[in-house]
Amino acid sequence: MSTIADGKVVSFHYTLTNDKGEVVDTSRDRDEPLPYLHGGQNIVPGLERQLTGKQVGDKLEVTVSPTEGYGERDPALTQQVPKDAFPDDLEIAVGMQFVAQSNAGPVPIWIAAIEGDTITIDQNHPLSGETLHFDVEVVEIRDATDEEKEHGHPHGPEGHQH
Ligand code: ZN
Repeated sequence: MSTIADGKVVSFHYTLTNDKGEVVDTSRDRDEPLPYLHGGQNIVPGLERQLTGKQVGDKLEVTVSPTEGYGERDPALTQQVPKDAFPDDLEIAVGMQFVAQSNAGPVPIWIAAIEGDTITIDQNHPLSGETLHFDVEVVEIRDATDEEKEHGHPHGPEGHQH
């Protein structure tokens, strides 16, 4: 029986809850389990590590600390900017993610708060600083193709899509 190891494409169902017990994300309302390439850093390190060696049908509850999840929060990565800094035609909403250009290349930025004409932007992932609780069921394990290994991510039935 196949077990989860580097070079396998694994599909799993998951429900992610935060420390308050709120469901943050779940694959259950999308029907399709989430595929990822094990060893490809497609998912947070703590979840990938604890899935190693598991088999189809295994169900597990995985707790992931911030350091093995989306990192600790760094208050220095939060910044307030005037609304004028954004294009007029852009509808800004809390939780919106976009990519900003920096000296170090493109960085993801989230809108953390909007107060009047002041926008708080945050380079911390919204789940940084959170202990993550995954309720996981392993659905499928298969060998990755050479192309998938080369790309570092799984491909769907129609091949590379992203
Ligand atoms: Zn690809």
